Amino acid sequence: MGESVFTEMTELARRTGAVNLGQGVPELDGPRPLLEEVAAAVLAGANQYPPAYGFPALREAVAAHQRRRYGLEYAPQGEVLVTTGATEAIAAALMALCDPGDEVLAFDPCYDAYPAVARFAGARLVPVPLAEENAGENAGDTPGFALDLDALRAAVTGRTRVLILNSPHNPTGKVFTAAELAAIAKLCRERDLTVVTDEVYEHLVYDDATHRTIAALPGMRERTLTISSAGKTFNVTGWKVGWVCGPARLVAAVAAAKQFLTYASGTPYQEALARALGGVEEWAGELRRTLRRNRDLLSEGLTRAGLRPYRAEAGYFLQADIRAWGHADGVRFCRELPLRAGVVAIPTSAFLLAPDAPSHLVRFSFCRREKSVVEAVEKLIAAA
Ligand SMILES: *Cc1c(COP(=O)(O)O)cnc(C)c1O
Repeated sequence: MGESVFTEMTELARRTGAVNLGQGVPELDGPRPLLEEVAAAVLAGANQYPPAYGFPALREAVAAHQRRRYGLEYAPQGEVLVTTGATEAIAAALMALCDPGDEVLAFDPCYDAYPAVARFAGARLVPVPLAEENAGENAGDTPGFALDLDALRAAVTGRTRVLILNSPHNPTGKVFTAAELAAIAKLCRERDLTVVTDEVYEHLVYDDATHRTIAALPGMRERTLTISSAGKTFNVTGWKVGWVCGPARLVAAVAAAKQFLTYASGTPYQEALARALGGVEEWAGELRRTLRRNRDLLSEGLTRAGLRPYRAEAGYFLQADIRAWGHADGVRFCRELPLRAGVVAIPTSAFLLAPDAPSHLVRFSFCRREKSVVEAVEKLIAAA
C-alpha cells in the first residue's frame, strides 16, 4: 500500500494554492454547544479510558436513535458497541467475520479503506461494479449509478462471507432504493451472507431521496452489522467516534477484535455526543441545507464548465465526466487541473477496483465553505 492519490493531491493543492475540492474534510465546524460540552467534559476530568463497549449513555443514545429513525430495537448492553470512528468498526467487523481466503463483496467504486482492511483480515475484496445510467456522452438525462443485480449474483461464491453495503454511497452520492435493498437482502438471505452496512452519511440526504437501512428488512437484523459515526453527521471528522449495532453474537465478535485494535477511545467526545445525538435531527436539517446548496452550485458550475456532473443525492461528493475537456484518464486530468484551472479533484479510479473500470470520472467534494465552492466553479468555467 503506497502513498495514496489523496496525499498526492493534497500536496499539490498546498504547493499550487489551488482550491481543494479533493479530500472530504469539512471546512465548516461542528455545532457550537457540542464543542463547548467537550471542552467542559475535558476540564471536568473525563480523560481516562471509557468502558470497552463505550460510555453507557452514548450506547443508550445510539439505541434510541435506531429505534426513532428506523424502528429497530437494539439493547444498549450487548448490541451496541462504540468504536474509534466508523473505520475501526469496519476493520474490526471484517477481522471478526472473515477467515483467511474468505471473500468480501463491495460495490465498485468503493471507499478506499474496504479493500485495505479486507486484506488485514486475510480476506479478499471482490468488487461488484455499479451500473452507470444515462452515461452516454449525448444522453439527455442526468447520469447516475444503479445496482447491477446480475453482477452481484455472479460475484457470490462458496467463499463469500460478507457483503459491504455503503448507502448513502461514497464516492458517488448514490442512495440505494427500496427495491435495490430488497433485492440485495433477498440474495444475502439465500446465500447466508452477513451484511456490514456503512451508513455514515445517513443524515446527509437531499431532495426526494430517502435513506433506508437494510437491517430493517425481513430476516436481515440477525445478519447485519450497522455502522455509523459522528464525524460526517456533526462536522467533527477529527473526533473519530463511531458505533456498530447488531445482534449480540456478531457485536461480541467485533468487540473481541476491537479490544486489541484501540481498546477504547474518545471519552470526552463520547460524553458530549451522548447528549447531542438526541437532537441530531435539528442540526442535521441545517447541515443538509448548507450542503445541498453547495451541491447545486457545484453541479450547475460543472455543467457550465462542460464537466458533466452525475446525480448526487447524498453525502459530500459529486462525480463529473471529463471527456468533454479532451481527457480520458482521471489521474492525468487531476494532476493537470491545479495548473490549468487552480482546482484540485480526486480521480474516481482511486475508488475503483475492477481492472477494466472506467477512468473518465473525477470526484469533487462540496463539504467546503460556499465561498470555496463558488471560487472553484468560477475557475473551472474560466479554464473551460
Ligand atoms: C468518512 C467515511 C468513513 C470514515 O468514518 P470515520 O468515522 O471518520 O472513521 C467511513 N465510511 C465512509 C463511506 C466514509 O465516507
